[in-house]
Amino acid sequence: MPKELLKVTNLKQHFPIKGGFLGRTINHVKAVDGVSFTIHEGETVSIVGESGCGKSTTGRAILRLDEPTGGEVKFDGKNLLSFSKREMRQNRKDMQVIFQDPYASLNPRQTVRQILNEAMEIQKVVPKKDRNDRILELMETVGLGAHQIDRFPHEFSGGQRQRVGIARALSVNPQLIICDEAVSALDVSIQAQVINLLKKLQRELNLTYLFISHDLGVVRHISDRVIVMYLGKIVEIADKKSLFTNPQHPYTKSLLSAIPNTDPDAKRERIILSGDVPSPIDPPTGCRFHTRCPFATEKCVTDVPELRNEDYMKEGHQTACHYIEEIESGLMQPTR
Ligand code: SF4
Repeated sequence: MPKELLKVTNLKQHFPIKGGFLGRTINHVKAVDGVSFTIHEGETVSIVGESGCGKSTTGRAILRLDEPTGGEVKFDGKNLLSFSKREMRQNRKDMQVIFQDPYASLNPRQTVRQILNEAMEIQKVVPKKDRNDRILELMETVGLGAHQIDRFPHEFSGGQRQRVGIARALSVNPQLIICDEAVSALDVSIQAQVINLLKKLQRELNLTYLFISHDLGVVRHISDRVIVMYLGKIVEIADKKSLFTNPQHPYTKSLLSAIPNTDPDAKRERIILSGDVPSPIDPPTGCRFHTRCPFATEKCVTDVPELRNEDYMKEGHQTACHYIEEIESGLMQPTR
């Protein structure tokens, strides 16, 4: 079994809402509210969910780009939340991030050479005399040519810019890369190229990915395991095959029912949820999904379901629902 590289325990990110005459904290947005999971070395774990479910906030909190409100984040056995800002900066080279919009995350006034050189300089990973060779090697690794080295970000296409973003992340030899909607802004054919590149690099460099995306088609392609989030909480975790062939949570089922099916003979009913996602400022009591769940009961309104796996479910497939077995066996029928 590969070693546990990242262990997130009860992670919370509550953003204060200021108001009133004195600008006091009057409430909190509970963007992430008690999230726990682990990622092993060389694994790709994806987080999926609708916009506002807390998936990107989870990624930012792990890297301490926003300071988490509570919980524990252990990376390679080290407790990141106990680090000073300086220690965190020193360790950040092991954990890189690739954002959705490479244009916004690359300095428009710097050439690719300068961008990659700066990353290595800050993290002191490659001696100055070897940097040029390393930059050329990185360009080749991500499928860009040496002749593009002195170009500015605006001179590249969207897919090429994302390759520059990947080269910058790789320049400091990271162990973990958080890909935050990294291919969402790209055309489908370019998406496939970038995903294939990420997979190739993972095989060659034994990289570990936390892949954050709202696109289940992409997640199905790249993941080993999948985490489904709803309103700041994890509702289901499973290996990819188990999640896509046998989803347990009513929310996961509704998400998967929206993926277009290429098999004309396959029978799958689209599950349309009623209502909108509630506000994370005042999330529903009990199961946060109860306001939209077709199976909700009184118990769902009062009792918070914990992540667990039923006897018949595959080991490692965990779902936060009081009635997994009843729904699965047909004992419970949707009421709305
Ligand atoms: Fe639906 Fe209740 Fe299960 Fe939540 S706990 S998913 S409301 S049945």
